[in-house]
Amino acid sequence: MSHVLIQKADHLLRMDDAGTELAGVDIRLRDGVVAEIGHDLSFDGAEVVNGRGCVVTPGLVNTHHHLYQTLTRAVPGGQDALLFGWLQTLYPIWARFGPEHMRISALVGLAELALSGCTLTSDHLYLFPNGSRLDDTIDAAREIGMRFTPTRGAMSIGESAGGLPPDHLVEDEAAILNDCIRVVDAFHDPNPGAMVQVGIAPCSPFSVSRELMRDAAILARDKGVRLHTHLAENDEDVAYSLATFGCLPGEYARDLGWTGDDVWHAHCVKLNADEIELFARTGTGVAHCPCSNCRLGSGIAPVRAMRDAGVPVGLGVDGSASNDAGNLIAEARQAMLLQRVSQGTDAMSAREALFIATRGGARVLGRDDVGQITVGKRADVAIWDVTGVETSGSWDKAALLLAGPTRVKHLFVEGRQVVRDGHIATVDMAPVLARQEALVKGLMA
Ligand SMILES: [Zn+2]
Repeated sequence: MSHVLIQKADHLLRMDDAGTELAGVDIRLRDGVVAEIGHDLSFDGAEVVNGRGCVVTPGLVNTHHHLYQTLTRAVPGGQDALLFGWLQTLYPIWARFGPEHMRISALVGLAELALSGCTLTSDHLYLFPNGSRLDDTIDAAREIGMRFTPTRGAMSIGESAGGLPPDHLVEDEAAILNDCIRVVDAFHDPNPGAMVQVGIAPCSPFSVSRELMRDAAILARDKGVRLHTHLAENDEDVAYSLATFGCLPGEYARDLGWTGDDVWHAHCVKLNADEIELFARTGTGVAHCPCSNCRLGSGIAPVRAMRDAGVPVGLGVDGSASNDAGNLIAEARQAMLLQRVSQGTDAMSAREALFIATRGGARVLGRDDVGQITVGKRADVAIWDVTGVETSGSWDKAALLLAGPTRVKHLFVEGRQVVRDGHIATVDMAPVLARQEALVKGLMA
């Protein structure tokens, strides 16, 4: 099994309950877990990684993504549109995807995340054209070596029934539930250290029926898996909820069984004080996606109020058609800056934003075995080179979100090296990128 000794790291941010920070420290990763933290640890036959000039943090956790969208970044018709118009520009393009599109785009999106320090990501795949399956993205995560929480999304209300997506992209609700059962049974691992945990995730209240939302919640509880969807993303989204369901998004979620510590919602930009209190009381999680919210002009999520109330909050880069980047450390900086725009300069520190990006995300995904560097937790570790131009002159090298690299030097997942010296170590990315470009040309034609 794997055995790595990170020697003499300049600075370690453990992200444990006490907020421990250590200098000049060694970290031993053995058999997939953090085995030892201390000074001058014995060599003991380990593969040695030089930690001098580096800050070590837990691997970052991404709680919301649509990996397939790396094939539709910066599509001209969607560059300047609001959410609903943006979706209607992209649906016809996505309808032409197939299994290879799903696998290649996931490889690219996962590699981008890994290079930005991410070791665990969720993905929300809610359209399955031309034989695509959740399995295609799980294959990609295994190839890269990323810890993965794929969610089986769905759309069932097409345009002719008053929904937003075109009719040919929606699925029959019985078939959706049957495929949810299939992927949970085939791939979900409930054990500590799991590399794959599957969630159930109807796309949004405006693209599935009330019955499917309710049935998905019942199924998830029966199977012991988590629930995920988009909620209260912008004013259009709230207006749709009021006009169609006669209630606010948070109330709709509550009434259909979509609150609880096994549920997390993406965005929640427009939750009011009562909905925030509901989420706090029930332990319902939020995937905060600051860049996507900026990009689509959706607004600033009340993250300070959520955190103060006790709502579990993690970060999400969201899909690459609405960010259009998938850089999680940059996302954490954006989260910090955005709260300062709305709430003042002391609204969020660099260390709190990094905590949200690690421990916060782990909690949102229901994982207490990752998100911190503590003996016995999984060996998911990001190593940041702080000798470059970005950090030169910094008085506090561990304040990575103020002055730090946006690309990781080394990355370990379950003790296995996924990024080495700034490059993906597990997959030859050149042919993957070439294939992605070829697929894009095919979609443009
Ligand atoms: Zn999304």
